[in-house]
Amino acid sequence: MPFIIRRQNQFDVIVLGAGVAGIGVALELRREGLKVLVMSKRRVPGEASRAAAGILDPFLQIREPNHPLLTLTIPAFQEYEKNIGWIESETKLNVGYKKTGMIYAALSAQDEDELKRRFTWQKKTVIPVEWTSRGIHYPTMGRVYPHQYMDGLLALAKQLGVKFAWTDKAPIRFRKEKNTKIYVALSGTNTYESSALVNALGSWGRDLSLSRHFPALTPIRGQIVLVKSKKIFLDKILHNLEHHYVVPWDSHQYLIGTTTEKAGYCSRVTRAGVASIMSGVERFWPDIRLCAVTSMWSGLRPRTKDQLPVIGETATSGLYVAGGYYRSGILFGVYAGKLLAKSIVSGKIVPQLASYQPLRFTKKERLK
Ligand SMILES: Cc1cc2nc3c(=O)[nH]c(=O)nc-3n(C[C@H](O)[C@H](O)[C@H](O)COP(=O)(O)OP(=O)(O)OC[C@H]3O[C@@H](n4cnc5c(N)ncnc54)[C@H](O)[C@@H]3O)c2cc1C
Repeated sequence: MPFIIRRQNQFDVIVLGAGVAGIGVALELRREGLKVLVMSKRRVPGEASRAAAGILDPFLQIREPNHPLLTLTIPAFQEYEKNIGWIESETKLNVGYKKTGMIYAALSAQDEDELKRRFTWQKKTVIPVEWTSRGIHYPTMGRVYPHQYMDGLLALAKQLGVKFAWTDKAPIRFRKEKNTKIYVALSGTNTYESSALVNALGSWGRDLSLSRHFPALTPIRGQIVLVKSKKIFLDKILHNLEHHYVVPWDSHQYLIGTTTEKAGYCSRVTRAGVASIMSGVERFWPDIRLCAVTSMWSGLRPRTKDQLPVIGETATSGLYVAGGYYRSGILFGVYAGKLLAKSIVSGKIVPQLASYQPLRFTKKERLK
């Protein structure tokens, strides 16, 4: 696409949302030499992105070998270390990356059958997998600390020259200049213009005007509890076949999760949520009983109707979407951003994004 706007407050692309989806695409657009502005409502980057568990698992929620998400999660996983090296060497920040290894534990004969079935196809992929007496072991999987990861992404983006406009005091409004391809974004007395917009507002993707082409989204609440004990030792991530896991952190802390609840836009931590996490985790990690709770939080994961991300141009020319990253945005957000940036710059959606196009949803689903 032609990028012609170059005056002050005029950008090639405005990205809405400073989560992993927004900063991911902004980073790569900037590397391509474009003038990029990220507009977001809080001074800290990300909502779901900061609340995440930070597990780097390319098979999360994928049961079958031909699942379309694998075309995104596996290459993203392969690039992860390189990207972390990039962030940490440029910013000198530590994102809490550790290749802990992860065990998917079988808790019943039925679980064991299912895990054996998955192991059969997973071992044919490039991801190392081993069968153990407890279930599947993934020696190269690990975690980051999501809040540190997001701070690192923000610092890197700023260093590269991405501009940020924090709009907590004055919400963003939009208009499209008549008979032009120019978008005008207003926040308070500030006005910004660009020839392309990327909606990366996570669960709030349909909040703004001009966002109505965003497919229907359901926020899925996930609760997390951080616990601590000096009496126990666990160095690998443990996961069951549901959504329960334990992630070892430094300083004798363990992050345990999670819930997958439809609770609208309520991001409160609830007694029922914490109780379900505790009892779910206790089934495969009885040591939880020895731990003290140090903190709790929750976040809203953006989920589309088919549970696949939506990454590409909408029916409105110049209006792009990077969203619906649901449970794996920390893993593939930066990689997906790179693919979307390439598509924006070349004016042609790259083949790796073919399964995630916004126009796969019917008009009714988009405008609902
Ligand atoms: C409990 C939990 C556990 C998770 N665990 C993992 C995991 O282990 N591994 C993994 O890979 N993924 C995990 N995820 C998923 C991952 O966090 C998400 O897929 C990802 O963060 C979504 O990123 P996003 O940028 O789309 O959304 P967000 O991070 O929510 O960012 C949206 C941005 O838009 C801004 N915004 C919203 N509305 C407006 C508005 N009106 N005006 C201006 N700005 C606005 C927000 O302030 C925010 O900066 C987890 C998520 C949760 C909640």
